[in-house]
Amino acid sequence: MTGSLFVISAPSGSGKSSLIKLLFERGNCPRLEYSISYTTRPPRPGEVDGRDYFFVDEKTFKNLISEDGFLEWVQAYNHYYGTSRDWVNQRLAAGQDVLVDVDVAGAKSLRSRFPKAKLIFMVPPSQPELIRRLTNRRTETSEQLARRLAQSTWEINQRTHFDFLVVNDDLIEATREVEGLVAGRPGRKPSDNKEFWKKFYLPDQPQDQIDQPQDQPDQPQGQPRPQGQIDK
Ligand code: ADP
Ligand code: 5GP
Repeated sequence: MTGSLFVISAPSGSGKSSLIKLLFERGNCPRLEYSISYTTRPPRPGEVDGRDYFFVDEKTFKNLISEDGFLEWVQAYNHYYGTSRDWVNQRLAAGQDVLVDVDVAGAKSLRSRFPKAKLIFMVPPSQPELIRRLTNRRTETSEQLARRLAQSTWEINQRTHFDFLVVNDDLIEATREVEGLVAGRPGRKPSDNKEFWKKFYLPDQPQDQIDQPQDQPDQPQGQPRPQGQIDK
């Protein structure tokens, strides 16, 4: 029997990497393996090559693209990110569950390749908390930070493409929720609770955009569209 594919996406700074780290440390999902993406982004302090990402140069990444090495890939925040095709296919075929951490465009692309994939969207409890976390992490310049925040609005408006919503208020609670989803327990839907989404209202954004998310272009303006290959 093939394993299940779990896809997790979140606006940058939501705490997704922290949650994934804790999820595997706790060891409550023994069948679950993490798909380590390739990226041209330089490592942040504490990140380890081959654990957090495979950190590669642009030439290596482009060679992998031309060899059809990615299930999907994206250019975001001036760097490339991609999911290894062979590794994911091989682990699923071996019956393991696989967790991939991708941006929202990557999640939508994986959905079309794996219709039964479980898509999890994670957010912090509010927009001010997202800003606080991203700022306090101190890993981005102010320009990079602004780009990630601008992207977060678009990502939140894409939430209805996901099967489940996890709010990362308390990290341990949120991790338990993801463990439950991996175990097949029911979860919250992203479309639930309109009041909650008002916490992501930005002063310069029409509120109906938050209440009634609409499908939008695959990437916000000014961002290149994803060009990842999709398996048939
Ligand atoms: P992401 O991978 O989504 O970009 P990180 O895991 O790097 O986010 O987390 C962003 C920042 O928020 C980090 O400084 C992290 O320690 C902090 N953080 C993560 N989860 C929580 C939480 N539940 N409460 C408070 N801070 C958190
Ligand atoms: P970061 O630079 O913060 O680690 O990641 C930036 C964004 O790239 C995050 O939204 C993360 O989920 C996404 N990302 C990481 N790996 C991949 C990947 O292989 N494919 C895609 N599409 N996005 C990825």
